[in-house]
Amino acid sequence: MSRAETNLHTAVPSVDRILRLAEVVVKIEEYGRDATTDAVRTVIDSARLRIRDLGEKALPTMTNEAVADDVVRLLTERAMPSLKRVFNLTGTVLHTNLGRAVLPEEAVEAMVAVARGASNLECDLNTGKRGDRDSHLEALLCKLTGAEAATAVNNNAAAVLLVLNTLANRKEVPVSRGELIEIGGAFRIPDIMKRAGAKLVEIGTTNRTHLKDYADAIGKRTACLMKVHTSNYTVQGFTKEVNGKELSSLAQEHELPLIEDLGSGTLVDLTRYGLPHEPTASETLANGVDVVTFSGDKLLGGPQAGLIVGRGDLISKIKKNPMKRAMRLDKVTIAALEAVLRLYLNPDRLVKRVPTIRLLARSEEEIKKVVEQVQPKLAVKLGSDYSVKIIACQSQVGSGSLPVERMASWALAIGTGSGGKLKNLADEFRALPIPVIGRIQDNAFMLDLRCLEDVDEFLKQINEL
Ligand SMILES: *Cc1c(COP(=O)(O)O)cnc(C)c1O
Repeated sequence: MSRAETNLHTAVPSVDRILRLAEVVVKIEEYGRDATTDAVRTVIDSARLRIRDLGEKALPTMTNEAVADDVVRLLTERAMPSLKRVFNLTGTVLHTNLGRAVLPEEAVEAMVAVARGASNLECDLNTGKRGDRDSHLEALLCKLTGAEAATAVNNNAAAVLLVLNTLANRKEVPVSRGELIEIGGAFRIPDIMKRAGAKLVEIGTTNRTHLKDYADAIGKRTACLMKVHTSNYTVQGFTKEVNGKELSSLAQEHELPLIEDLGSGTLVDLTRYGLPHEPTASETLANGVDVVTFSGDKLLGGPQAGLIVGRGDLISKIKKNPMKRAMRLDKVTIAALEAVLRLYLNPDRLVKRVPTIRLLARSEEEIKKVVEQVQPKLAVKLGSDYSVKIIACQSQVGSGSLPVERMASWALAIGTGSGGKLKNLADEFRALPIPVIGRIQDNAFMLDLRCLEDVDEFLKQINEL
């Protein structure tokens, strides 16, 4: 180190000195001495590096005030939660990576209420005796699906695992080769089957499976028959699948339960909101399926959960499986789920109250209005380096629901000369206090505004760019 450099180094304030400054003392109280000292050290280390790189030019950033400001900024940054709200402008309404369903306000309020204090989670308020956490959901689920009994676990993957382990441990389950699905994130029917202790018997072919294939596979070791909803793909062309009704007759003939993994599942006929038809849980049960499982946070629009509805004797066995204890829902989720299920008691209000349904059913005209409101502001903010065009686009449902359906929507397509800059732009949008997630497509950064409802907050973010 040269003498000049050594002299410059004496300009760097000491850790102790910074820790005694009033604005830093306040932070010690807020974040603790260790975290604050650590932040001061980090800032001072980088100050030393700056002197090495810039020499005298770095001196203005060495004052006590400048260092203290950096320390406060660093502490604030480090205290930011990792999991936070984002704007999902990807055009995929139920985006697994972005948390799937946005919860209804009623669900949020219910979660906060039980989180704040003690609750009757497992306490029967009539008798004062020990209650069952399923009791908050079961009657509602039965009413909404026509099932005899119901229970709920952490997610649908857990529901499938639990049902198979309960009904088919060390036994065989025939499943059509056309239904051996893989959902993202390593959920594969053959693997789940194995972990559940059940032996998968593959029947039929990829495109065609007949009732006879099921009948031929039934033997002494058969535990149940199973259907799986091919959520995230479709088999088209020369195809044949056996529907629940036919399969149910066969299962009854052999006194075997019939189970169905409905995947997304829904409680209402979506066609009333102008959406394509998806089998509902009640239709599936009415077809004679004995146990149906589906997700809470896909088309239902609730919290992450796996719902299991069906025949009383089977559900009772499922509830008694010790695995259930390892998969049970916590009180906050139960509160949210109960609130969402209550909304389904009045289907006429669903579009208003359940964001998932509202966003899926949102009209092109309404989205166009939002796009037209936002476009000029974004264009001004981004200036002449970028073009901001209004273009028609297609949104999708996501989360493996209705995989080939597309909904007409409107987007802002931000274009530049070179692709490299586009990526920088996407990075910048993601770095906002409330990150904005879009997609790069056809040489543009695309923001599909189907899911943009809080326009004011969005414009505030844009101003931060
Ligand atoms: C999504 C899906 C699952 C997994 O459900 P999660 O709630 O994500 O655990 C299982 N089966 C099918 C058919 C699905 O579509």
